[in-house]
Amino acid sequence: MLRRVVRVGVAGATLVGAVAWLGGKAWSMGRVPVALPIVVTRAFVDVADTIRRNETLSEVFARQQIVGADFVNLLAQMDGVNPRRVRPNTVFEFRYPVGDSLPDRVRVRLRDEEFLRLDRTDDGRWSALSEKITWTVHTKRVTGAIESTLNEAIHRAIPDSILPFRDRELLVWNLADEIYGWQIDFFRDIYPGDRFVVLYERLTSSLGETRYGRVLAASVQTRGPENTAYVMTDEAGRNVYYDEHARSLRRAFKMYPVQYRRISSSFGSRLHPVLRTRRAHLGVDYAAATGTRIEATSDGTVTRAGRWGGYGIMVSIRHPKGIETRYGHMRRLAPGIRPGVRVRQGQWIGSVGMSGLANGPHVHYEFLKNGRYLNPRRVDLGDGEPVPAARRAEFDALRVRFDRLLGRASADRSVPVD
Ligand SMILES: [Zn+2]
Repeated sequence: MLRRVVRVGVAGATLVGAVAWLGGKAWSMGRVPVALPIVVTRAFVDVADTIRRNETLSEVFARQQIVGADFVNLLAQMDGVNPRRVRPNTVFEFRYPVGDSLPDRVRVRLRDEEFLRLDRTDDGRWSALSEKITWTVHTKRVTGAIESTLNEAIHRAIPDSILPFRDRELLVWNLADEIYGWQIDFFRDIYPGDRFVVLYERLTSSLGETRYGRVLAASVQTRGPENTAYVMTDEAGRNVYYDEHARSLRRAFKMYPVQYRRISSSFGSRLHPVLRTRRAHLGVDYAAATGTRIEATSDGTVTRAGRWGGYGIMVSIRHPKGIETRYGHMRRLAPGIRPGVRVRQGQWIGSVGMSGLANGPHVHYEFLKNGRYLNPRRVDLGDGEPVPAARRAEFDALRVRFDRLLGRASADRSVPVD
């Protein structure tokens, strides 16, 4: 892909004059425009070139006449750039002084926060410079009602102009998996009309770009109960979410054995799709594409791994306090998963399939305590870890501020949300 833009470089002080001159057709013929003298310092042609898949950096630069020793010299200045590891679709900007066949400047965006700029020096070598791009953080609030799914509600509530599609997806996944992944089953606990309020960060760059940051606080109503979440950053820089009682939202068990983003639907008991008879369905089913990663919902020890009757290929895990979880209808087990192996919450144990009594790819998830089947969403998993005592005052102050922004507290609405 090649983009050619001609830009006329003008000394800053004479910019007004230049604009008046360029807008010259506004004057009628015969009238002499009264403007400052124009000093055009240098004219440049800018060319944008993109590195394609299976293309090397030297090929891109060769198209722009940077070859041989010149290329080696330039490469030596590109600190921290592995020429074999430049991502396809990375754009390089080449600046050619008008009338010159060699570029005198190359610019590449290596990260969201900076351009690497290389300038040809008078002796024909290259010198590197980092151009910082500043990002400003804005706090945004989105509120709405869930009519069908959280995904659909967020996409409906946030316009493209505020966050593009891909960023809205990230926001949904953060909410469903990283924040409420231990608390809310967004397929079964949500009823039409359930409301949500989310405070999130939106960043804008000095170049006018926009991107999603993180969720600061949220409140999701699930037919009555309010599920609050407030962020704190731990020592390792990770986002940890707490409820209004300063308890971590993390629990011993996650809601889903597959990520929310991978679930296409959930279905319950009623008529067994294969047996066609009404029978008690002792688990929770989540439909997902064949091959989707199935994860252990909690730490434990594998007690069964392989074929077992109607479950097809399945895994059973023993957890503390007499709890056992089972995952059925797998296509295959994850490598190394066999009886006696210890697994962690979130660890890959197998992939979604339709082995055993299943008429479509899904995971059949069971939760048992002392051999009795329980609804995993109704099990009391106790309170989460409290906010560290040393940070309790900080948390309380944050919560008050976030509550105002969420609209939870009625008293003070003067805190601006931009
Ligand atoms: Zn099932």
